[in-house]
Amino acid sequence: AAAGGRRSGPRSGQDVKLALPLTLPEVATGVEKTVTLKVLEVCEPCEGSGSEAGSKPTTCGTCGGAGEVRRAQRSFFGQFVSVAPCPTCAGEGVVVSNPCKKCRGEGRVRAERTLKITVPPGVATGQYMTLRGTGNVGPRGGTRGDVLVVFEVEDDERFERDGEDLFCEALVTYPQLVFGAELKVPGVTGDLSLRVPPGTQSGAVFHLRGRGLPRVNASGTGDLHVKVQLWTPQSVEGDEKQLIERLASMQGQAPERREKGFWSKMKEVLGA
Ligand SMILES: [Zn+2]
Ligand SMILES: [Zn+2]
Repeated sequence: AAAGGRRSGPRSGQDVKLALPLTLPEVATGVEKTVTLKVLEVCEPCEGSGSEAGSKPTTCGTCGGAGEVRRAQRSFFGQFVSVAPCPTCAGEGVVVSNPCKKCRGEGRVRAERTLKITVPPGVATGQYMTLRGTGNVGPRGGTRGDVLVVFEVEDDERFERDGEDLFCEALVTYPQLVFGAELKVPGVTGDLSLRVPPGTQSGAVFHLRGRGLPRVNASGTGDLHVKVQLWTPQSVEGDEKQLIERLASMQGQAPERREKGFWSKMKEVLGA
């Protein structure tokens, strides 16, 4: 079963759609889920025939069992024959004259079915996989449809996602930017460490290669892009206040412009 694709057809009435919620860590690793869903199963008393025990469907009188009707029509170009499904038996060729009491002649009844779903890593909301032959059984012994599992990935407030790439923000203090630091940053399946060099500007973006999400049904893994953002305390007092006041008297004002090349580096990072 592969994710993606689109299909429709005469059996679409037998197909069952199932929304499957997933967390981002589940997307990162892939996951096996067990779900219970409502499907139409073969009616036991009539074994799917739709006829009450002891009776049998009878040949349709309208089409004589052919399931289709032919009509001769005259037109300017001469006589031609059109073929259409029989309106009495809907193309089945037989009619249930003594319908089963349990299924009222449908040959199928509502039931619950438990399915094990193996979700491949890297899926996204709206993608789906098809579990062939696990859906509703057709009326009166008809073929079984599919279950379409549609993935719904829940928002993870720690990350923004773009395909297999993830973006997050890490708050840092001023001394950490000045002296450099080893930061703990959120990874999708656990914390990661990020080395920030001395003299880092607030807003700089670092790339942790291969720490994003796996590509679905392909090899390779995306990156985690971490933007370091200066955290400013809401209020300061005591020693901290005195220190920052001293710093303020020393530093005065920031330069009018960022160092040369900052914006071109930034554009590179953003892929602009
Ligand atoms: Zn018929
Ligand atoms: Zn029945």
